[in-house]
Amino acid sequence: MKLSVIVPVYNEEPNNLAQLVLRLKEVLSHNCPELDFEIIFIDDGSQNQTRVYLKELQAQHQEVRLVFLSRNFGEQAAIAAGLAHARGEAVINMDSDLQDPPEMLPQLLAFWKEGYDVVYTRQVSRHEPVSKTLPAYLFYRLLNSISDIHIPHDAGEFRLMSRRVVDTLNEMPEKTRFLRGLVPWVGFSTKELPFTREDRQSGQTSYTLKKLVKLAVDALISFSNAPLFLVSTLGVLVLLAVLVNVAYLILNPQSVAATSTSNFLLIELEAIAGIQILAVGIIAAYVAQLINEVRGRPTYIVAETFGFQKSANSFEADTASSKLTAGATEQNLFLKAN
Ligand code: UDP
Ligand code: MG
Repeated sequence: MKLSVIVPVYNEEPNNLAQLVLRLKEVLSHNCPELDFEIIFIDDGSQNQTRVYLKELQAQHQEVRLVFLSRNFGEQAAIAAGLAHARGEAVINMDSDLQDPPEMLPQLLAFWKEGYDVVYTRQVSRHEPVSKTLPAYLFYRLLNSISDIHIPHDAGEFRLMSRRVVDTLNEMPEKTRFLRGLVPWVGFSTKELPFTREDRQSGQTSYTLKKLVKLAVDALISFSNAPLFLVSTLGVLVLLAVLVNVAYLILNPQSVAATSTSNFLLIELEAIAGIQILAVGIIAAYVAQLINEVRGRPTYIVAETFGFQKSANSFEADTASSKLTAGATEQNLFLKAN
C-alpha cells in the first residue's frame, strides 16, 4: 500500500512547509504505520526563498520529493504536475498552507480502503470573510445549474484519488484543468467528507482576483455550453421584440411611437448593440479556450526534480507519465515528446 501526497507551492511561508511535513509524518506514522508514503512538493515558480526551504526539507526528510516548474503556471497546472509524478496507489492533494488538516488523512485513507476511488472534502464552514465565501457560494450554484455534471459545492483541492482515477486524469488531453470538475467527470465511486477548513496558518493567499476570475471562466467554459445557447436565446428575444415593435407601428400608424419619438428607437438600438457586444464577448471566451487547446502547449514545464531516485521499485522510479516533464536525470530541463 503506497501513498503519494502532492502539494502545490507558491511563495509559501517556510514555517507552513516545515509544519506540514512534520504533521503529515506524525499522523501517518501513528495511524498507518505500515504505509509507505512520499510527499511531493510542486513549486509553481515561486519568486522568493521557497525553493531554498524546500531543498532543505528534502535534505532532512527522505519522503520528500520536489518538482520545480519553469515558471508560475497556476495551482491547477501544479497539481497536474504532481499527479504525473505521483507513484502511489492512492494520491492525496492538499494545500501548502495547513488550511487542509493533515490529521484528516487517516479518514480519507479509511474510505479508500473501503473501496472508494475518490474521497473529496467539502467545507461545511470556514473562517474566511463573506467577501470570499459569498461569490464562491453563488458561483458553484450557478455552475451546477448550467453544467452537465454535478460539481460538488464547496469542495476544495483536498481530496484522495485512487490510482485508476489518477491514470485517467493523466491521460486526459485537455490543457485547461479544472480538477473540481474533471474529477467528478471521470466518475467512479465517490465519497464526500465534510470538514471545517482551517485558517491560513501564516502568510497571505496567493490567489489574486485575476487568478480567481480566470479559474471561474475556465470552469464555466470547460463544463457548460449554456452561455453559448444564451447567445442564441438573446438573439431570438431581440428579434421577437423588433417584430412586435414593427407590427405595432404598422397597425398603429398614428401612435406617438410611430410619429414623434426617436428616443424609443434609440433605446432599442442601444439595447441591441449591448446584446451583440455581450454575445461576441461570450463567444470570444469560448474561442480563446479553443485556441489554447488547439495550440496544444503543455499545461506546465518541469525545470528540475529532486528526490526521485531511479530504482527497480516503481514507487521510486522517476518515470512520470505526463507529456512534458523532467526525465530521470535530476536538475535537468528537457522535454520528453509524447
Ligand atoms: N498555488 C499555486 N500556484 C499559484 C497560486 C497558489 O500552486 O499560482 C497553491 C498554493 O501554494 C496553495 C494552494 O495553491 O498550496 C492554494 O493557494 P492559497 O492558499 O494562496 O489560496 P486560498 O487558500 O486562499 O484559496
Ligand atoms: Mg490557502
